Amino acid sequence: MSERLPDTVQYHELVERRSTVSGMVRVAELVRLSAAVLPGDERLAVELEFDREGRTSVMRGTIRGQLRLQCQRCLNDMVLPVDIELALALVHSEDEANRLVADLEPAIVPSSSTISLHELVEDEVLLVLPIVALHDDAECGIEVGQVADAAQHDEQPARPNPFAVLAGLKGKSTKH
Ligand SMILES: [Zn+2]
Repeated sequence: MSERLPDTVQYHELVERRSTVSGMVRVAELVRLSAAVLPGDERLAVELEFDREGRTSVMRGTIRGQLRLQCQRCLNDMVLPVDIELALALVHSEDEANRLVADLEPAIVPSSSTISLHELVEDEVLLVLPIVALHDDAECGIEVGQVADAAQHDEQPARPNPFAVLAGLKGKSTKH
């Protein structure tokens, strides 16, 4: 798969024809996602199948690849594998979303037929990002015990002790 995933599509047509759309998306093109990961040339492989289930337009598919995040413990790079299976019902309102019965997750799209596949993919990937990126303990540049020690040190006042400052001034004045 080396083709670029198309962005805006007419999904009614894709649903009627039960089409499959696939391609690569560069993470750098997805503004909200690229703000949450380390800059790079990562790409995601996307495959989306459109279909109708009852009266509902459905998009099922996969998003695969990897992202690079910064570990918040050791501040080194970490790789987050992305392997998402999605089953979205394309609906136009909360009402419609609430009426869904199947194993489908609602995605509210404009009532015109035009949707942005890049935006839908980005929304799904943002959902799997960890709130705080952390290596597994074994892979992290900092051991968990060390972090606890560092936290204890941080609790001590960072400001200089006023008496030490005074002592310093006294020391200086006597040198003259
Ligand atoms: Zn780490």
